[in-house]
Amino acid sequence: MTDAEPPTTLASRHDQWVARDAAVVWHGFTQMSAYADNQPIIVASAEGRELIDVDGNRYLDAISSLWVTTLGHRVPELDAAAREQLDRVAHTTLLGNGNVATIALAEALAPCVPVSEPHFLFASDGAAAVEQALKIAFQFWTNQGITTRTRYLALGGAYHGDTIGSISVGAGGFGTDVFDPLRFPVLRAPGYDDPGWADTAVALIAAHGHELAAVVIEPLVQGAVGMWVTEPDAVERVAEACREHDVLLIADEVATGFGRTGTLFASQQCRIRPDIMCIGKGLTGGYLAMAATVASRRVYQAFLGPDLSEMTLYHGHSFSGNALAAAVALRHLRLFEELEVLPNVRARAAQLSTALAGLAADRPAVGAIRQRGLMVGVEMHPPADGLRWGRRICAAAVRRGVLLRPLGDVVVLMPILTSTAEEIDRIVTVLAEAIDEVCAA
Ligand SMILES: *Cc1c(COP(=O)(O)O)cnc(C)c1O
Repeated sequence: MTDAEPPTTLASRHDQWVARDAAVVWHGFTQMSAYADNQPIIVASAEGRELIDVDGNRYLDAISSLWVTTLGHRVPELDAAAREQLDRVAHTTLLGNGNVATIALAEALAPCVPVSEPHFLFASDGAAAVEQALKIAFQFWTNQGITTRTRYLALGGAYHGDTIGSISVGAGGFGTDVFDPLRFPVLRAPGYDDPGWADTAVALIAAHGHELAAVVIEPLVQGAVGMWVTEPDAVERVAEACREHDVLLIADEVATGFGRTGTLFASQQCRIRPDIMCIGKGLTGGYLAMAATVASRRVYQAFLGPDLSEMTLYHGHSFSGNALAAAVALRHLRLFEELEVLPNVRARAAQLSTALAGLAADRPAVGAIRQRGLMVGVEMHPPADGLRWGRRICAAAVRRGVLLRPLGDVVVLMPILTSTAEEIDRIVTVLAEAIDEVCAA
């Protein structure tokens, strides 16, 4: 077998690529024995908000490549930023040394994040940013001689990534129950599906504050569990309880950050200023693997002490602060203003909300619709278990050229932030057709 494309003889190009894929690639969150049967798309290239597969078929990317793409694919300005940085340097270590591209990015991000006088500890994935946040929160206390704050409060339905620390603060489910023996125990308040979640969280913070290192939340939207949403006031009350009981607040904005909910960060709508914030996914516009843990001045200062002392944060990743990713992330941040991305998110979100209300009106199979900005979950109510409606509706949409991926029986809509009015209409029209096809079957 060679690197070249397989010859197009008997099987289609697509089938040949799927066979090559399944022979050597292990796909995450995917049962590989069924992979080839589930009609995966094999992307060869992309243009704007469309993906193009190996047979030249085009798909509107209505999940933003699993929530990372913000402005589209092959954005000329981002492509140029990557090329220009390549002519300087692609990567150098941040452990003990600096890089011009990373410094410029952190300087540009600093006034934009809702964290006071921030420092940025870079990583490559959201889960690593959460892992860093958990360790920082823990050591923040031990550095001050306080060894009794060893617990975390997290929410039901929470998802914070797939490393052992992040699945510990994450709720059960998502297929992770097998790892229960490895999880460290956390204090658990309800998730956003419970209207009383914040009351319980506030009460738990009051009762356990003295032993809590931090409270971990996804502000406004719990995405992975199926787009559970809450009100800004509820989040604000929990942040106030943290302040009152001197517990650190970690805001995981890996999914909600970079414009998804209509503001640059969801914390801004909630009027909270977390002590620690995790960002990832949209940080480079979906181009390159980069995440960061953002620490307030107070948190950061607790780590200052004699050289080589135990005050140091002994944590770092090989590709932390990658220069290529930083250059793209910096250009991306500036494009938010230049392209007036946030006003478009708010306009398209309002349009989507109206269109989905219309879709649900004469389709009793549609249960709840949950939305914050351009993060949407359309919950289906199948008449019986095991019908795999979510999966089948998304497959029917893909056959019509709109790429969707469900979370169980919740169909997720995550349009790219620069989507046009026509594209939003097309997504809703195709979703309606897909629902009708599956419900009629
Ligand atoms: C996706 C996600 C993560 C994990 O990020 P990865 O880059 O996939 O490791 C963490 N928290 C939230 C809220 C997420 O949506």
